[in-house]
This record gives sequence, structure tokens and C-alpha cells, in this order.
Amino acid sequence: MPRDRLVGLVFDDRYLTHNTGLDLIEDRSHYPFAEPVAHPSSPALVGRAKHLMDLFGIADRMRRIDPVCASDEQLTAYHTPEYLARVTEIAQTDGGDTGSGAPIGRGGDRVARLAAGGTLAAVDAVMSGAVDAAYALVRPPGHHAMADEGMGFCVFNNVVVAARQAQRVHGVDRVLILDWDVHHGNGTQAAFWADPSVLFISLDQDELYPPGWGAADQVGIEAGEGFTVNVPLPAGTGNRSYAEAYAKIVVPIARQFDPDLVIVSAGQDASVFDPLARMSLTLASYRAMTEAMMTVAAECCQGRLVVTQEGGYAPQYAPHCSATVAQALVGIRPGDEWIADPYGELAETQPASAQLGLDAVTAIERVIAVQQRYWAI
Ligand SMILES: [Zn+2]
Repeated sequence: MPRDRLVGLVFDDRYLTHNTGLDLIEDRSHYPFAEPVAHPSSPALVGRAKHLMDLFGIADRMRRIDPVCASDEQLTAYHTPEYLARVTEIAQTDGGDTGSGAPIGRGGDRVARLAAGGTLAAVDAVMSGAVDAAYALVRPPGHHAMADEGMGFCVFNNVVVAARQAQRVHGVDRVLILDWDVHHGNGTQAAFWADPSVLFISLDQDELYPPGWGAADQVGIEAGEGFTVNVPLPAGTGNRSYAEAYAKIVVPIARQFDPDLVIVSAGQDASVFDPLARMSLTLASYRAMTEAMMTVAAECCQGRLVVTQEGGYAPQYAPHCSATVAQALVGIRPGDEWIADPYGELAETQPASAQLGLDAVTAIERVIAVQQRYWAI
């Protein structure tokens, strides 16, 4: 008899020690306040997400997976040895920037390796069959990190390294990486730009961050042409239009690609309360987006799904979004209830939850026109 579905959870208190503090900003003249304003990538965000998973009994239903410290060999599947050496060097000082807006403090190389290693451990657990799916609640995030520099709070590219691990160690052929973080996963796109074995699909706010990345006509090159799918959506896009993008673009292309493993770059910063973006998603979308990927994974690859944490900066709301993703992964039992939206009707009755925005429709049609060259959509 098959055992019950098992979902793994990677979390480690050492993730909370990753320092993005204002003491790492050399020029503070832009912030002339007597009372310091915290860096948006606060340890409280993943800490609260884990707290909610405990509080709602979700973590109890997940199997704990310990992160490993990613090795040089694992990290150089993407990153250059020179970059690894630079990160180590910075971590031996009081801290500094690993590239462009990705500071670490003293000893920060170990935490960053533990974040990559958390995603690696989640992939290992799923591929070995120890669990069916897993949530890697890691910090720092990874999807902006390039081969030779950190970027946008990201030090090592956790999902890239994990996808390569799945291919090299576990013999996986095709990996789908879905990036629903509101910013573009430029580091991930760059890694697989010419590679048809990894399908990269990114939904994000058009022209937000980083500049120049994520346009619909960026589709990959050479053998990888058609295996990058960018879905840039206008500011204000909410639940209804995201659902449309999933139904018309994301899910049909994912099915046709027929992955052997699905990895989600799950940044919860397209939420309606996020201070770093202007989208309008509520908890309902985080549940729906997770369930859509569970369906694809169930149809294509025996449910093998790894969700890994990227951004998400709304102090109260982002942790609820992450906990909802975890709750969707473990599923609801009879008598259980879905996590209630802390903003209740205020979130669900906003127009973008129910109505298809005309500007979003135009953006979706544009992506379809580009991707129809490669996929039956
Ligand atoms: Zn983000």
C-alpha cells in the first residue's frame, strides 16, 4: 500500500543570522533618520513564516529536512571560483556587498551556503523519494544572483544550483523552474539561457527589477530558444489576471515541457501589501499558484515539487502567504480550515481579485503571441 503523501520542510535558525543590516550600507546620507529604518529583507519574514507554520499545525505535518552547507563543487555548477573566493573574503571582514545590493555580514558566507544547501537538501529528499514534495524556507534568497556576483539581496543562486544537482546527481533530464517572485529571476534566466533541459518561466511586475530583464521577447538562444518564458504583467495585476496567465500560458507550457522535477522560486512579494512592488495578490492566489504546480508535478513527475523561498517583504502578510503555500503543499484534512486572510474582505474584495484588467489582458496576449512560436498555446 502506498504511504501517505509526505512533504518536507527545510528551516534552520541560522538563516535568521544572515545580516543585511544598515551597518553594511557605507553611505547613509540617503537615510538621515535618528531612528534607523530596517533593511526590507528582515529575518523576521522567514521567522514569522515558520512561526505561522507551527501555529497552524502545518509544520507538524511536514518532515524536517536538515540543510547542508553547499560545497564549492555544488556552487560552481553555476558560480565562478573567483566569486566564491570573494564571498569568503568579505565574510572574514565586518561585512560588505557581494555584488550589487547583496550584503553579507561577518561569517555570512556560511549562511548563504546553508541557504543553497537547504534547497539542495530539499531536491535530494524529493529525488530520493524520502518525501514527495518539499518547502525550503531559506534565507538569503537566490534568484537574482549571477554567476560572478550577488544581486538584489541574493548571494548564491539557490534554485540554479539545486536544478544542476538534480541533473548531475539524480540523473534528471528536464527541470521546470517557475519563478513567481514579483521581481525577475535574472540569475536563473542567465544560467539556462541556452539550455533546453531547464524551462524557466517567470511572472513578474513589468520593468520593476532588475532593469532590462524579463521582457516577453527574451526567450533564450540557440538550443535554449523557447525555453525561457517571461510573463511581465502591469503594476496592479491581481488574482484574476494571474489566474488567466496560469491558465493560458504557465500550465499549458509546463505540461507540454513534461518536466521530471518542478522547482518553484517562491517570492511572496506580488502580494497586495508588499512595500517593494505594486501587485495585488492575496492568500487565495498563493494557494492557487501552489496547487497549479502540484497538479503539473502530479501529471508529469509523480508529484516531485520543490518550493524554495525567494523574496516577500510585507511584514505581516508575506509570512501568511508563505504559510499558505506550505498548507497547500500538505493539503487540507477534513475539519481543517485554510488560513484566514488577516485582512479578510479588505483583501478579497479589491477589484483586482475578481476582475480581469484590460492592461493585463494585453500583456498576456503579447506573451502568447511570442510563445506560440514554440508552444501550442
Ligand atoms: Zn522579489
